[in-house]
Amino acid sequence: MTADHSLQILLDELGRLPGIGPKSAQRIAYYLLESDVEEARRLADAILSVKEQVHFCSRCFNYATGDECAICEDSTRDTTRICVVGEPRDVTAIERTGSYHGLYHVLGGVISPMDKIGPDQLHIRELLARLGHEDIHEVIIATNPNIEGETTASYLARTIKPLGVEVSR
Ligand code: ZN
Repeated sequence: MTADHSLQILLDELGRLPGIGPKSAQRIAYYLLESDVEEARRLADAILSVKEQVHFCSRCFNYATGDECAICEDSTRDTTRICVVGEPRDVTAIERTGSYHGLYHVLGGVISPMDKIGPDQLHIRELLARLGHEDIHEVIIATNPNIEGETTASYLARTIKPLGVEVSR
């Protein structure tokens, strides 16, 4: 492989990342070319280790490095409340506010007929199972306030309310 070719591969790969156009890709690639090999290796290792070590929590489908995520494993959390979100990044956003201390359930998306995503493609069955065997008093639905998020929220409210669990938005 020639030097030009390996630089081109790096530029192509960087350019595929979200929010990085050709100019930014070029800036990062030249920065890496000029940095020492240890710095480049740290970045490469960090990328590989999230891919190898991070998976989904077996209970709430947040990101986890063990069987359960840090929030599910935290015994100081209020285990009677579940906040339902679309993606793991929504958990991070709510955690940053510091105002919620219950548990979460990550759906892995939202209902979107256009993208052929229905309730069966999301972790809704697992949510209902949790309501069956965990002592949950309240479900707070925190999907995004767009059409898909609202559709998902009303579907969940219709499904959960008959189980005798309080549902709020
Ligand atoms: Zn979890």
